[in-house]
Amino acid sequence: MARRSGDTIEAIKARLNIVDIVRRYVDLRQVGDRWAGVCPFHQETKPSLSVHPEKGFFYCFGCQASGDLFDFYCMINGLEFRQALEELAREAGVTLNDRPDPQAAQRQQERRACLEMHSLAQSFFQRQLESAEARQAREYLEARGVDETMQDYFGLGYAPEQWQALCGHLQQSGYSPQKGVTAGLLSQNKKGRIYDRFRGRVTFPIHDLGGKVIAFGGRVIGEGEPKYLNSSDSPIYKKGAHLYGLYQARQAVTQSKEVLLTEGYADVIALVRYGFTNACGVLGTALTEEQVRRLAGLARRVTLVYDGDRAGRQAASRSAEMLLRQGVQCRVVSLPDGEDVDSLLQGQGAAGFQRYVREAEEGLSFCLRVLRESGVAREILRWATEFLNGLHDSTWQAYFLPRVAAGLELSETELRRAVDGNREAKTSGGAQQRGQRLERTSPGQRDRELLHFAISFPAYTKRLDVLGLDHALATERGRQLWRKIQAFSREELLLHLDEGEKRFYIQSELDPIPAERERLVWEGIEQFLHRTRQDEKLHEMRTALKKAQEAGDAEEMDRLLQAYTDMLGGLNE
Ligand SMILES: [Zn+2]
Repeated sequence: MARRSGDTIEAIKARLNIVDIVRRYVDLRQVGDRWAGVCPFHQETKPSLSVHPEKGFFYCFGCQASGDLFDFYCMINGLEFRQALEELAREAGVTLNDRPDPQAAQRQQERRACLEMHSLAQSFFQRQLESAEARQAREYLEARGVDETMQDYFGLGYAPEQWQALCGHLQQSGYSPQKGVTAGLLSQNKKGRIYDRFRGRVTFPIHDLGGKVIAFGGRVIGEGEPKYLNSSDSPIYKKGAHLYGLYQARQAVTQSKEVLLTEGYADVIALVRYGFTNACGVLGTALTEEQVRRLAGLARRVTLVYDGDRAGRQAASRSAEMLLRQGVQCRVVSLPDGEDVDSLLQGQGAAGFQRYVREAEEGLSFCLRVLRESGVAREILRWATEFLNGLHDSTWQAYFLPRVAAGLELSETELRRAVDGNREAKTSGGAQQRGQRLERTSPGQRDRELLHFAISFPAYTKRLDVLGLDHALATERGRQLWRKIQAFSREELLLHLDEGEKRFYIQSELDPIPAERERLVWEGIEQFLHRTRQDEKLHEMRTALKKAQEAGDAEEMDRLLQAYTDMLGGLNE
């Protein structure tokens, strides 16, 4: 598993302190040479999360979540390792040199310049909001109850109604207009003329989770189209990858495990103004998978707040579907017709809004209702099969299928048939993904797949044994069959199998895994067995650790924690 390149990792760790990173999400208190706080990965109020800056790792005595800076960042943001590495490297100003890449240094420099330009733009816009020209903008904000405290909290600003204001400001700091275009702050027309992208607009900075401004949204004051305008994609900002207000909301979200997800800037600010500090917004696109992963890392449940009109219902239903597919619980608050978040809060206050939240409809039943109201029969069946086959973990079908069938008044058998017919054999992806797929498969099904392989390719018997298939099989019946396969020759074997085993064995022989898939399937199994063995060892260590903690044996705890992190480190190499 060559997922890390040592030097880069060490360089990042040398520059970023794990305590500083964890603190962004969790209140930490110093206890001796470690820090303690409430664990964001399971629900409780005791400070069971322990962060050790010297050793550079964290450990939770409640849920056993543990690891280093990268593990924490991946888990809390729902990122793959590679993404976390890139983000943290960027933050630390470390160049990723795991692949020889002559352009990497240049890209790194470009990103740094973009961040610097955004920081310049942010203070420029904030200063402009104080200017005489921004009177209308200030009135606009105040009329919506966005007072100075809120303006500061979200870093709101004003882009003057001029073509060259920011452009000139950036040039004074040595940034050419062309660089401003790359950063997404300036625009260029067909004739090559470069001008301010945001003009006569209130500006809403978009932050990354480290608190750096990476893009802007702008709301036009008075007439003008479009009403809202966002930065274009740049080396530091990709549409659909971020959520508005998540930086400000992150602590409230990790503590409550709940997030209020709404459509726009104004909604987020209104919610926070009324005390719903765990609100964030999707930034003008449909909710993306990347955004869902970010939310899933922080929250256990997402409450969608959308307008009650047809367009709002459709958008909410798409978002709910996306969340459910990724295994995130969600529910939907439908606002009454003609109301938006702001007007509802102004009219009925926080308590009034809270009532709507309490009456929120569970995500799946909301999706099914919207579908029933708007869909034709064929449409409904298509949605159902795609939804069920799109589930991140195919074992969830057992949970969702009967509910979808009931909600759409379809027979379960019929729906099951449609789903099976529509599924494509999932043989693509790398060995690691195939290994992970095995992990996610239900234990009984997995045992059958592992044994099917063993029977299809007897040449692997020895290797499967060495890699510990016996331990990896989850069912007693599976282990029993495996022991018999090892103990007897093909000729003797059938005499020793019971009826069920015999049926399975013969079926597997008659319908073996095709030879052309041998390598693919084997790689997945190898990965899976490898992981299972490591998990077992880690589990043993955690048990010992827990015992040491209960016994108050500080020395033993220290020794075990050290061994534990060494082992985690080894896993990652
Ligand atoms: Zn925990």
